[in-house]
Amino acid sequence: METQNFVQLEERYGAHNYHPLDVVIQRGQGVWVYDVEGKKYLDCLSAYSALNQGHVHPKILQALIEQAQKVTLTSRAFRNDQLPLLYQELSEVTGYEMSLPMNSGAEAVETALKLARKWAYRVKGVPRHRAEVIVCDGNFHGRTISVVSFSSTDLYKDDFGPFTPGFVSVPYGDAGAVSAAIGPDTAAVMVEPIQGESGVVMPPDGYLRQLAEVCRKNNVLLIADEIQTGLGRTGKLFASQHEGVRPDMVVIGKALSGGFYPVSAVLADQPLLGLFQPGEHGSTFGGNPLGAAVARAALRVIVEENLVENAAKQGRYFIEQLAEIPSPFVKEVRGKGLLIGVELKQTAGGARRFCEALRDRGILAKETHEHVIRFAPPLVIRREEIDWALPLIREVLNMP
Ligand SMILES: *Cc1c(COP(=O)(O)O)cnc(C)c1O
Repeated sequence: METQNFVQLEERYGAHNYHPLDVVIQRGQGVWVYDVEGKKYLDCLSAYSALNQGHVHPKILQALIEQAQKVTLTSRAFRNDQLPLLYQELSEVTGYEMSLPMNSGAEAVETALKLARKWAYRVKGVPRHRAEVIVCDGNFHGRTISVVSFSSTDLYKDDFGPFTPGFVSVPYGDAGAVSAAIGPDTAAVMVEPIQGESGVVMPPDGYLRQLAEVCRKNNVLLIADEIQTGLGRTGKLFASQHEGVRPDMVVIGKALSGGFYPVSAVLADQPLLGLFQPGEHGSTFGGNPLGAAVARAALRVIVEENLVENAAKQGRYFIEQLAEIPSPFVKEVRGKGLLIGVELKQTAGGARRFCEALRDRGILAKETHEHVIRFAPPLVIRREEIDWALPLIREVLNMP
C-alpha cells in the first residue's frame, strides 16, 4: 500500500483528533525514520520529546524483549522485581528520594495535583475541598478533563465542560502575578520551565528562581512539569536546573521510556510523596515490570551516552546556525538545548506550509501554535546530521 491508501484508511476509520502531516512512517533508527515508500527523513520532533534516546535504541529494545519474555504485568496487588530497581535508579539519577509511576504524562500530572491537594489538607491545614493550584496561561499539561479545565487554549476545552474547580491561571513569565494570586488556600504552583506546546515560550531569566522563592515564603509547593523539558532535552537533566531550582515535585514522562512504552512518574521527597496511603491512588499498568525494565534501560542510555551534554552542545550549535539563516519570514529563533522554536512573522502565512516543505525535503518538524516551527531532534543527533539539515531549512525559510 502507498501513502495515500494509509491516509484514506485513517481518515475513514479513525477519529480526527489530530491533523498529521501526510507521511506514513514504517520504521525508524536513531534520528532517522523511513516511510512506506522507502523515503528517509530526519526526525526533528522526536514524538514531542519522547524519543530523546533516538528511535528503537538497541539497548532499550533488548531490555523490552528480555522483560517481555519473563513477565509483563503483575498489577500492584503483588510486587515485581523491576519496579524497586527503577525506584532506586530514578532516585540516584534525579536526586529525589521517592517516585510514583504512572503511564501517560497527563496521569502523572493528575497524580501531582492530587498529592498537592492532599498535602494542603493534611500538612498545610487548608480547609477540606478548598485547595487551589496556580497555573500559567498558555500551559499544556495534558488532555484529561481536570487538566483541560485550566487550559487557556479554547480548542482544548470549549466543548468539554463542566470543568474541575480549584485552579487559577496567571500570565506566564510573571512571578509577581503568581505572588499576587497566592492566598491562604493555595496548595501549589504548577509550571513548565519552557512552554513547549505553546510555541517554545521561554520565560525571562530568573523566573523559576523567583517562583521557587515566592513558593518557599508562602508555604506553597512548586511543581515543575518536565514531561517535555526533562531528561536532557534542554541540555540539563531538568530544565529547572538552569536556574538552580529544585522543585518540590517534578513530573516526567515521554523520554522516560525512550519512546517504547508509556511510562511517567512523579518525583518528590519522602515527606511529600510519603503522604499517599494504600488505596488512595493507583493504576493497573502503572509500575508494571515491562514498563519499569524499559524505563531503567532508557535512563541508563541517557546517562551512559551523555545525552544531556550532547543536547547542550548540539543545541547551542543548531540554535546559533538557525539564527544566522537569512529569511524574510523569521521573527525569532529561540530555545535551550535541543528544544528549539523558529517563530515566523504573521506575513509568513503560518508554519504548516513550511513543515510540509521540510517534509518534502526529508525533515520532519511540526508547527506548534500556528506560527512556530519546533525543532527537537533526538538527543543522539550529531553535528553532521545538523549540517545536513541546515541548507534544506535555509531553502525552505526562503520559499516564495
Ligand atoms: C506531552 C505533555 C504532557 C502530556 O503527556 P501525555 O503523555 O500526552 O499525557 C503534559 N505536559 C507536558 C509539558 C507535555 O509536553
